[in-house]
This record gives sequence, structure tokens and C-alpha cells, in this order.
Amino acid sequence: MKIVRSPHELKTILKEHQGEIGFVPTMGALHRGHLSLIERARKENALCVVSIFVNPTQFLEGEDLDKYPKKFEADEKICSIAGVDILFYPQAEDMYEEDEIKICSPNVRGYVLEGHVRPGHFDGVLTVVMKLFNIVTPTRAYFGKKDAQQFLLIMQMVKNFFMDVEVIALETMRESDGLAMSSRNVYLNDAERLEALKIGKSLKCATNLVIQKVFEAERIDKEMREVLSPLEVEYISIVSRSFVPQEKVEIGNSIILVAARLGATRLIDNIWI
Ligand code: AMP
Repeated sequence: MKIVRSPHELKTILKEHQGEIGFVPTMGALHRGHLSLIERARKENALCVVSIFVNPTQFLEGEDLDKYPKKFEADEKICSIAGVDILFYPQAEDMYEEDEIKICSPNVRGYVLEGHVRPGHFDGVLTVVMKLFNIVTPTRAYFGKKDAQQFLLIMQMVKNFFMDVEVIALETMRESDGLAMSSRNVYLNDAERLEALKIGKSLKCATNLVIQKVFEAERIDKEMREVLSPLEVEYISIVSRSFVPQEKVEIGNSIILVAARLGATRLIDNIWI
């Protein structure tokens, strides 16, 4: 596995490459969720590129940029064992200069749910993904359904800018007790970790309701809140696959999302119905 820090060096290396390129952008502190994306990228492409970059522009003032878990040595080993060909590990100054042109997320879809709680977050996400796509020129790029809004906005950016990359969303990987894997889970103390299970349970409850043909968003919302209580729920939302709020769940076209706070930690999770 080759570790490359400079965007220009990576561009030069990849220009020489003929076959298909699979790309997995990450912020590091890798877990099995990331690994599932890497495995798929390896399987479907001649070359697998993973980036590790804690992108400062997607963090708001006062968020966890400084304490975001950094585990480069462990990540490097994981990538090497997983068969990654190139690990791209740039620093902020390699990626940004002062007073830059930025990508703006769309007015509605970029500013509801996560974008409402974290205004401007998706501008940073889309800007860095645009940069990374231009550096790596992937044939296919792999993302997690766990960050559903992020994935849908990246899909929209690729469409709106006529970009030449196939974006693929993969299922959320969970711990055996149902907690969605996340690099931020390390922030949880034992009591919070236990409470956090209510998030997955609330989504299970929503799924069971849908199986019983209960489709009304209001009823699902109410029952999910009962499961989540007394957690501090930031939002529960039922939206279409293009992020339009729905009064009724539509099988094959709904995503049920939840965001909750456990102490200082925000966790998000969702289920694609
Ligand atoms: P992050 O390092 O948190 O920026 O995540 C990098 C990629 O991994 C994103 O596309 C995430 O959606 C994806 N990801 C994060 N957690 C999971 C998970 N539990 N299962 C599958 N993919 C995930």
C-alpha cells in the first residue's frame, strides 16, 4: 500500500493508471462500517483508494474538530490488511488556501435536518468531496447510508455538475447490540452507550410498525419518541428518497431518520424503508 500526502503527487500517480478506480473517502478512526465500503471498492475496481482527512470546513464553530478521534497508525494497518492500494492522507494546508471558491449546498435539502442543526455543514462536505473527486478521479465512490442526507446531496452534486463518477450507498454496519458504528461512539461513557441503544430500537420499532402496515408518519413519530424517552431527541423525520417530508411511509421510497444527543455527543441513525 502506498501512502500519499500530496494531492499533486496523487494526481500524477493516478494519471498513469488505466483501470477503474474505487474510492472511499473517510475521516479516519476506521471501523467495520468503513471496511464494508473498502471491501466493496476493492471487489468492483482495479484500484482502491481510501482517503483519511478530517475536513475542517464541515465542522461548525464549537464542534468536535479538535477532539475528533485520530488514529492514523491503526488506520494505516487496517487499510493495508484490507488490501487498499493507495491511502491518501493530506493535511488541511494541502487541501485549502485562503479565500476559496466553495460549493454551496442547496437551499432546502442542505438546510433541513442535519443542515438545520449544523448550518453550512454540507457546504464543507460538498466542497471537500468535489476536491477529492477531482484529485482521485474515481470511477465509483462508496458512501454509507448512515449519512443519508450527505449521500443524497453528493448524488445531487454529481448530477448537477455533470460529474463522471458513480456514487454508491452501502448499508449501515451495526454493533451486535444494534448501535450503528460511528467514529464518534468512542465519546460515549458506559451509561450513554447503553442509552444510545434506544436509537436503534426506535428505528426497529418504526420498521415493525411498517411491517404491520402502519404508515402514518405522526403515529410512527409518536411511538419512536416513546422508545427514545428520556433521550434528548433533536429530530425524527420521515422523508422520501429525495428528501421531501412524507405524511405516510412509502415502501421503497422512505427514509426514517433520527438524531439524538447523549451528553455532549450527537448521534444520527436512519432506516431506508
Ligand atoms: P466518516 O469517516 O464518518 O466521514 O465516514 C466515512 C464514510 O463511511 C461515509 O460515507 C459514512 O457514511 C460511512 N460510514 C460511517 N459509518 C458507517 C456505518 N456504520 N456503516 C456503513 N458506512 C458507514
